[in-house]
Order: sequence, then structure tokens, then C-alpha cells
Amino acid sequence: MDTAFQSSVRGQSTARRLLGRILTGDRLGHAYLFHGPAGVGKAALARDFARALACVGWTGCGDCPSCRRFDSGNYADFLTLETDEAHLKIEDVRGLIQSLSRKPVEGRGKIALIPRADRLTPQAQNALLKTLEAPPTGAVLLLTTDSPESLLQTITSRCQLIACRALSREQITAALVDEGLDAERSATAAERAEGSLTRARELAEDDQTLAAAANLWEQVRAGRLPRVYAACGEVRDRESARRLLEETARLASNEDGDWSVAAAAELVRAARLVAANAHLQLTLETVLGGLTLSSSREA
Ligand SMILES: [Zn+2]
Repeated sequence: MDTAFQSSVRGQSTARRLLGRILTGDRLGHAYLFHGPAGVGKAALARDFARALACVGWTGCGDCPSCRRFDSGNYADFLTLETDEAHLKIEDVRGLIQSLSRKPVEGRGKIALIPRADRLTPQAQNALLKTLEAPPTGAVLLLTTDSPESLLQTITSRCQLIACRALSREQITAALVDEGLDAERSATAAERAEGSLTRARELAEDDQTLAAAANLWEQVRAGRLPRVYAACGEVRDRESARRLLEETARLASNEDGDWSVAAAAELVRAARLVAANAHLQLTLETVLGGLTLSSSREA
């Protein structure tokens, strides 16, 4: 019988089937290592598996009280080290282990997720190893990594391995289209992304920045102030603003003449200001508006 394991992750049919069999089987392991290339959905799949472990019907249905609590971040027996930290230290792991060994609140057992487990320092890995050797009853530990070789062999050998694969171009294109990107850009990004959805998102964003910067620079050079302000208004966040300004600076520096050189320097300075917490819209409008006015005077 096929599995009812619910996951929104694209592709990974082999891994999903395996996880489905684990959920319907009668021998749940205590540690699983999701491994495979970067940006293919390992952490998301591991999270969905954690949700299925919490789910009343063992599927991750999304509708039962446990799934709902899980989705709203209120499932008391789920612990995770989902941080942006470059390294996970022994203190982080100790905290996690302590919580893992407490009695489960919801009944079945504690579930812990450590994404990008290769960030664990050697000391942290050793601390974790002790838990893997004598896991608390009912506890399930989920690790993800795109470099299993950076984990202690003693850790990987105690985990059941869940292999995730690079995504096909079609899968990546479909995912980007679902996220609202147009079909042509999605296909172009998918082609260069080497099977990684995360990489494809970055490439698509780079393309959008290039197009936005080219348009912005054209409006600045043509002295069209309302259009420049409109373009400023479309910038969503600090990081996109920084990239847009840097790319526009590059376009300015490709032109000859004193004005362009000064403009490029001004734009680079603005990119730094934006990155350093200056008021976003005000900085964009002041710098780009100023350049638009001086550009028409210069022409
Ligand atoms: Zn459920």
C-alpha cells in the first residue's frame, strides 16, 4: 500500500516513499540523517516528517490538533536548532538534549530537528553522540546535511540515512512558477541551478535585480523623476535595495565622464548606507532623485 505521508516538498519521491514506509511500519528509528545536495528540500522534508511523527494519524494531515499546533509552532514536543548560526556549539546541543530527555507533553515522544548538522562543532557532535548511543525513550532525532563527510562517522553510522536528490529542471521551473515567477525566467534559472531550488531562487532574483537596475539607470539618465520614484517604491527590503544600488553603480561606472564616475561613487555609498540601517525609502529617493536631477542638468 502506498503511503499517505504529506509533504509539500517537490520531487524526492524515493525519500518520501521511504519516510511513508517508516511511518506506517512498526519500527520507528531514533535518528534519521537527511543527506543530499544543497537546496533540494532536505530541511523542509525533515520538518514534514517531524510533523507526521506528531500527527494523530501519522501522516502530517495538516488538519488534526497536533498538526495545527505543529504548524503554528506550538507543538510542545518538537525542538529545533533552526538558526542562521555558522556553528552549533556544545551549549546549543546540551540544551536540546536536556529537553529531549524530559517527559513528552503530548504523549508519543520528543522530536528534535537539527538542520545543516555539519555546523555542529566536534565537541557538539560528541555530546550528540552520547544521546545517539542511549536515546531517551520515544525520542526521534532528525539531522540534515549536504556534507555527511563533515559529521563523525560514529554519528552517521547510528542514523538511518534518507537520501535526497538533485531536482529536475522541470521540478524547479514548476516550483518557481508556483512562487509567482514568470515561466520564461523560471526556466532560465532552473537551467543554471544544477538541481538546487535554492540556487534557482537566487539566480532568478539576480536576473530580476539586473533588469530592475537597467530600467532604473535608464530613467535616471533620462531625467524622469516620477518613474525613478516609482522604481524606488517597488523595492521591498534592505537586501534588494543594496543589490539594486550596487548593480546600478556598476552600470554608472561603465559610462565615461566625470558625472558618471561621481554617480557610481554616490550609489556605492548609498548601498552601504542602506545595508547599515539607513532609512530605506528616504535614502533611495534622496540619492536616486538627486542623480536624476543632476543627470538632466548635465545633459
Ligand atoms: Zn495531522
